[in-house]
Amino acid sequence: MASLSFERNSNNKTVALFFFIFTVTLSLCSPSSVAKLQHFHHRAKADGTLSFLVVGDWGRQGLYNQSEVALQMGIVGEKLDIDFVISTGDNFYDDGLVGVDDPAFHKSFSNIYTAPSLQKQWYNVLGNHDYRGNVLAQLSPILRKKDSRFLCLRSFILTTKIVEFFFVDTTPFVDDYFTNPEDHTYDWRGVLPRQSYLSNLLKDVDSALKRSTAKWKIVVGHHAIKSAGHHGNTQELESQLLPILEENNVDFYLNGHDHCLEHIIDAKSQIQFLTSGGGSKAWIGDIKWWNPGELKLYYDGQGFVSLEITKKVASFSYYDVFGNVLHKWTLSKESDSSV
Ligand SMILES: [Zn+2]
Repeated sequence: MASLSFERNSNNKTVALFFFIFTVTLSLCSPSSVAKLQHFHHRAKADGTLSFLVVGDWGRQGLYNQSEVALQMGIVGEKLDIDFVISTGDNFYDDGLVGVDDPAFHKSFSNIYTAPSLQKQWYNVLGNHDYRGNVLAQLSPILRKKDSRFLCLRSFILTTKIVEFFFVDTTPFVDDYFTNPEDHTYDWRGVLPRQSYLSNLLKDVDSALKRSTAKWKIVVGHHAIKSAGHHGNTQELESQLLPILEENNVDFYLNGHDHCLEHIIDAKSQIQFLTSGGGSKAWIGDIKWWNPGELKLYYDGQGFVSLEITKKVASFSYYDVFGNVLHKWTLSKESDSSV
């Protein structure tokens, strides 16, 4: 259309205007600006406080206590008047969704999390098991038409009044899925070429964190940066993502992947590492040694986590499959200074 209008009006002013628009369009399409993270806002409660649940590694059509965990999430969600739910990924086992009409979407999500308090927005990231299915289906807006709660993107930002969340697509960081996929097939559409995908993502997360003026900064990914569980630390994230979190004073890193509940405080950075991967199948007794000064909780059963955040205080609790509180922690930011 632009070139057509240019040919019809070939005076000097139109030519100059055309080249101006052409240059601006080109700069907007340059690779450095293509990968900007999508941004959402969630209105918190009137007083600005926020409460939400975190669950991971859940989609097993109700099996392995998924339904029991869902029941307790509903009870706790009601009590805390939650604003939304965060899923740390591995949303559909074993191999993600085969398409947008996969019945697993209803069997593992809509028909399981039925409590009134869970009829809120769910912010989901993808896990490695999700990448074994049709990733584009799980990211498709068609799923939102089937169940408006379900929002899944690769990486995105969620802003509330006092907390900003940075959701990071961690599966493409893990070398093994590329070099040693065993008998699994991963859907890397939208990820290749891998190196530019990862470097753009890291740049975008870093600049989004630097721009953030939020009181609390929370990063969410599927894979653990630090974990005493079966998979342990994800070295690729330790070397590539962790320095960015440390440099930008991130308060929490939330993840799943290890099927347990964990709380680790990094002695160096003071970042709180919360693993919530107990949405269904758990791995009993599967624990590595960890410095007890840093490991505040390791629970090798099913469950989930809640967070309640005000301007100055963040409290979080871990629950087992019966709704019992396993562990509680409170953090304070007394000073208004961001240092
Ligand atoms: Zn996983």
